[in-house]
Amino acid sequence: MGYSMPTSGIMMFYSCASTMPHSTIFVAVAIPTPLRNLFHYSLPANEQVAIGSRVRVPFGSRKLIGVVTEVNSRPDIDIAKVRPVIEVLGAGGNLTEPILRLCRWASDYYHHPIGEVLASALPTLLRKGADPQEPSQLLTLTPAGSLIDQQSLGRAHAQRKLLGALQQSRRTREELSAMDISSQTIRSIEKKDWAQWHGEVPAPLEPFSSGTVNHSGITVTEEQATAIAAVQNRTDGKPFLLCGVTGSGKTEVYLRVIEPLLKAGKQVLILVPEIGLTPQTISRFQDRFDVPITILHSSLTDKQRALGWLQAREGSAGIILGTRSAIYTPLKFPGAIIVDEEHDASYKQQDGFRYSARDLAVLRAGFEGLPVILGSATPSLESLHNADSGKYHLLELATRPPGIEPERYEFLDTRHLEQKDGLTRALRHRIGERLANKEQVLIFINRRGFAPVMICNDCSWIAHCSRCDAKLTYHLNTNTLVCHHCGTISHNITRCQSCRSSQLSPLGLGTQRIEQTLTAMFPEFPVLRIDRDSTRRKGSMESFISEINNGESAILVGTQLLAKGHHFPNVTLVAMLDIDAGFYSADFRATERLGQIILQVGGRSGRADKPGTVTIQTAFATHPLMETLVQDGYFEFATGLLQERKEAGLPPFTFHAIIKAEANSSTTARSFLESIIAKVQVRNTVNLLGPIPALMEKKAGRYRQLLIVTSAN
Ligand SMILES: [Zn+2]
Ligand SMILES: [Zn+2]
Repeated sequence: MGYSMPTSGIMMFYSCASTMPHSTIFVAVAIPTPLRNLFHYSLPANEQVAIGSRVRVPFGSRKLIGVVTEVNSRPDIDIAKVRPVIEVLGAGGNLTEPILRLCRWASDYYHHPIGEVLASALPTLLRKGADPQEPSQLLTLTPAGSLIDQQSLGRAHAQRKLLGALQQSRRTREELSAMDISSQTIRSIEKKDWAQWHGEVPAPLEPFSSGTVNHSGITVTEEQATAIAAVQNRTDGKPFLLCGVTGSGKTEVYLRVIEPLLKAGKQVLILVPEIGLTPQTISRFQDRFDVPITILHSSLTDKQRALGWLQAREGSAGIILGTRSAIYTPLKFPGAIIVDEEHDASYKQQDGFRYSARDLAVLRAGFEGLPVILGSATPSLESLHNADSGKYHLLELATRPPGIEPERYEFLDTRHLEQKDGLTRALRHRIGERLANKEQVLIFINRRGFAPVMICNDCSWIAHCSRCDAKLTYHLNTNTLVCHHCGTISHNITRCQSCRSSQLSPLGLGTQRIEQTLTAMFPEFPVLRIDRDSTRRKGSMESFISEINNGESAILVGTQLLAKGHHFPNVTLVAMLDIDAGFYSADFRATERLGQIILQVGGRSGRADKPGTVTIQTAFATHPLMETLVQDGYFEFATGLLQERKEAGLPPFTFHAIIKAEANSSTTARSFLESIIAKVQVRNTVNLLGPIPALMEKKAGRYRQLLIVTSAN
């Protein structure tokens, strides 16, 4: 063997040599199970296997796909009991060394089993053991089949449809099933010898090359030029925090920074928020560069996703644009990583394997020696703190290009103004003015449904979810009460469940209620409601956007879905309703998020000749932080918040970790955490706080208790 072993190990090895072929090696494999250890398997020494190879292995009575993390490992169990690898899978699906390193770090830092971390870094198909480079089967017409006249098939509609599709081109099984063609129809055509399956080896993926760059006369401002030069001439490995007010041209900086990289054959990974991956964003890159762009988002089929992953890994895609999980995409010729809207909450995976894609981007760039740019108009306090303390380089774009006026902000103090259906008279008046002026109005309310509460007028009973500590939201169009936390839907609630009264009424505001109110108030104008309920259907968001960009006067009512990735030049008034929870939430990040959303939503409006106005209805109109935000801007606002965090000993000045216990009863969850406190020894710089109930203790029938671990260093 190629390594030395302690004496006992050698003895053990030879003692079982009779049952084990002499040329056997062992590999350590990470398997997607909640267990935290690696598992050892044996393999003939002449088998092609590498660190990062996918292998099919026996695990108990199951067969699972794992990833090899060590070749020539030393089993920690009796060698006679080590089971053999069933199959080493195609090398095209191997995880690369930088991704393995990133995953190992993430497994360690986020305390998640390595097998599950590695599995989540692989596209689903590869995780299931498919070979990304294996021939795909295409249904192809035979000479006889291509002579069939479709009309002659009469009423055999399904067969006609299939023949028609095949006469256009050969099709994979996935494509046919997407066209609603059944396997029965396929078999009937095969039986008649009209079509056959043919294997086709995919063309090998070649490294991309960059074509012409289309600047179309765009010049950069002095600030942009400074930022671009700073990244291109970087002298250390520190990340760049690019802060640019809306409209200041962050994207142009990205485009200029990556241009020479693409020309040199280097790939660029660009992360965008979950709902920021819009056609508008994609076309900015497509219009500028003549390189293959791979787009990775959640509505791709497994096959498309595996192909995108492979294009990145083989270096045939120049730009890889994707949401959170794209951070695990391997790059053959890595050039740079960009995280756009770095403050966005969707970069944090909040369940299962929890991680921050933004933080992993910084780490990965460090591992691979790449420049990384975190961009935002409203950067997170963590990133600003890193810039303050010299860990990041701060690049500022403080001025807008000439001709672009900033939006104006005004407050309507709801403590002193009468409201009708959630709208003050002053706001109703302003909306009417803009519509009469053939302009568009955007009403922002971050709550979908009709009303957040259903209350009994006789006894004040409120409809609650039976599985969560949450009130049910009333949805008018379906006449249902819906829990927005666990998805439970109750139909036909017509009576109070406490006093049986039928006098139930919805209380509070949701998008549907505002839609109804505005439709009644301004009957001659269209009201478009844009929230998760109205955009479920594929393509519905795009049709909303194109209707809005027609420019006809209209009222848009929407949640934060509207706040990202879209610009609405014809919107000249943005009204924000019911934002006050941001001031009294128990979550210490609520005020930061409120400031971000006010500026992000406000920034959607206006254009050069018609600057936008942002009207905020709030009971906190005189709150000093609000005044700072709209008068002095986000930086001053964030500085104030950072000062508050520092005084309160909160992140980013201290470090927090949460141990969450979930059980069928509150007591079980609690006593589990208490047993942890009793057992662990912590350093005197570490504080344990809890157990305390989670903000919503009961969710989907489970009780959640927290132990908060804080440390000053
Ligand atoms: Zn009642
Ligand atoms: Zn619920």
